[in-house]
Amino acid sequence: MIAIIRYNEIALKGRNRAWFEDKLILNIKKSFSNSEIKVKKKYGRVLVVFSKDQIDDIKKTLSRTFGIESFSFGILSKSNFDNITKNVVDLVKHNPNQWNTFRVTTKRQDKQFPIKSNTLNEKIGGCILDTFTQKKVDLTNFDLNIRIEVTHHETYITTEHHKGPGGLPVGVSGKYVCMLSGGIDSPVAAWHMAKRGCDVHFIHFHSLPYTDRASTQKVNELAEILSTWGLNTKVSQTPFAETQKEIVKKTNSSYRIILYRRHMMRLAEVYARKIGAQAIITGESLGQVASQTIENITVIEDAVSIPILRPLIGFDKNEIIEIAKKIGTFETSILPHEDCCSLFMPKNPIIRSTLNEVKKEEENLDLKI
Ligand code: ATP
Ligand code: MG
Repeated sequence: MIAIIRYNEIALKGRNRAWFEDKLILNIKKSFSNSEIKVKKKYGRVLVVFSKDQIDDIKKTLSRTFGIESFSFGILSKSNFDNITKNVVDLVKHNPNQWNTFRVTTKRQDKQFPIKSNTLNEKIGGCILDTFTQKKVDLTNFDLNIRIEVTHHETYITTEHHKGPGGLPVGVSGKYVCMLSGGIDSPVAAWHMAKRGCDVHFIHFHSLPYTDRASTQKVNELAEILSTWGLNTKVSQTPFAETQKEIVKKTNSSYRIILYRRHMMRLAEVYARKIGAQAIITGESLGQVASQTIENITVIEDAVSIPILRPLIGFDKNEIIEIAKKIGTFETSILPHEDCCSLFMPKNPIIRSTLNEVKKEEENLDLKI
């Protein structure tokens, strides 16, 4: 069988096009490193050749591969009229009860092919009507769209069409570090950036041994789910308890969260520089909690010089939850866990901190990088 993959946005990238296509092909191949499939570039599309029993796997993977606008399943045929007709009839006879109306949509990449697209539509349509006498042609309200693409050597006949996730192939926009907590927001933030072509690596701060192992496992599980969308599975699990103890011991409790976050940022920046990442991604959303007012975001950001991307900054919680459900992270995110920041949580976190105040609090701290 074959899958024809279409990619709108990549095609717009002018001279970079080949590099975008190659990345997409590489990403598809990586997802199927254990199975026998062929992936090739063909006439501004990608062609995947596979065996029939792989179709469910292929469908699942392609619908999660960023850069794919849509894909269709079908078969390859030789580019001559008799073969095309025979293959079309063979293909559509499998599920005769699932369709009553149909249309044929031909595209001729090969202008040397002796039959024009409209004529081929009519001829093939006629053959189908002869074979399946109960069926009808309907160009607008059809159950089945038989797409025929005639190229020089071969013709692609497809009948099952699916939407891809859109976006850009993971990796074309460079490398990033996402600060992944066990909550709902940060996995959604990571997913959004992967959709824009980011190769996302994860860092998580844990308070072992003061929190249980389940919280780090939960984060690993979230990364595992996100890896089905092309993000990395590995999480840099980073100890944070000593930092917290130091902050709790020496500073005013209302500044705690800000001070935790500033130091998380510093550690994330070190990790980013180490792996060659260009920016940090967080799940912050304006006004969601005390630490996410613009004043506090500004003070937190001051701790580092690397750019910080916050794809959810303008999202409502409900909108984030909806996406979390769609991408498969929600059920894991809502499992109870002991977050490192709920440990030693202050009663009255400051809502509008200033950099001067915060720097004063930090003066006595001995924090390890
Ligand atoms: P989330 O919903 O993703 O858990 P949150 O609602 O808990 O985030 P905050 O606690 O204010 O929000 O955290 C803001 C952002 O800081 C998170 O989205 C995440 O990117 C980062 N962050 C918070 N805690 C951690 C942690 N323990 N490890 C790594 N990153 C964290
Ligand atoms: Mg949040």
